[in-house]
Amino acid sequence: MKPKVAFFDFTSCEGCQLDALNLTAEELISLLNAVDIVNFREVMTERADNYDIAFVEGSITRESEIPRLQNIRDRAKVVVALGACACIGGVNCLKNHLPVDAALRIVYGKDARYYDTIPARPIDALIKVDYYVRGCPPITAELLKVVKALLLGKKPEIPNYPVCTECKMAGNICVFERGMTCLGPVIRAGCGAICVTSGRHCWGCRGLVDDPNLDSEKDILQKYGLTVEKVVEKFKIYNTYAEVTK
Ligand code: SF4
Ligand code: SF4
Ligand code: SF4
Repeated sequence: MKPKVAFFDFTSCEGCQLDALNLTAEELISLLNAVDIVNFREVMTERADNYDIAFVEGSITRESEIPRLQNIRDRAKVVVALGACACIGGVNCLKNHLPVDAALRIVYGKDARYYDTIPARPIDALIKVDYYVRGCPPITAELLKVVKALLLGKKPEIPNYPVCTECKMAGNICVFERGMTCLGPVIRAGCGAICVTSGRHCWGCRGLVDDPNLDSEKDILQKYGLTVEKVVEKFKIYNTYAEVTK
């Protein structure tokens, strides 16, 4: 019996699910040989309520999403948070900087009263999450790594060291040398420091490492004459829930 896998979305842009489909034909065939996908709104109309592994995309931003999420948890043996919105709250949590009423008025104006909204949360604020596939969107290699580990009954090994490690291994020149800030020293690796390698800096989409060395980040900022405020601004884009709401 192949394990039954389901994909669900909550408040999100659905980019994580789209990216999950961005596999090579060979990878897709191997995946379909190993699991039965029984629920995936973006690609199939059939829906089944019995599944072993649930991938959940999106954060929780409406009261009505809570029982639906709990129902998924009750049915699945394993729940995997898929992407930054589900894992850490992500960009949806930016609204948590304002009172809910104010955020509603700004977005919906006179129609605000028709919308059910609550402060945004990652899914593990409401249910137990077994594994996390991080990033905005996650890299498909990591998604496949997690699926393979689950099929083998193993715990997926996800780095718990900072992006800087992978950035150095990629041979990048640190953006601090160019007067820019970067969250790499405190953010969990696993993406290969893709943003720095592409000429940008790390925005923190994979969330904090378990034991971030915030003093070290402050020391680096001081060394380059930059302020903590500048880096906190960037940190809030994906990590408001960790910073403000929790
Ligand atoms: S993590 Fe990024 S790509 Fe995935 S749903 Fe959220 S905003 Fe979209
Ligand atoms: S701070 Fe950013 S640019 Fe510098 S090494 Fe770390 S990840 Fe790379
Ligand atoms: S470099 Fe930073 S922002 Fe870019 S994918 Fe990696 S963790 Fe996310």
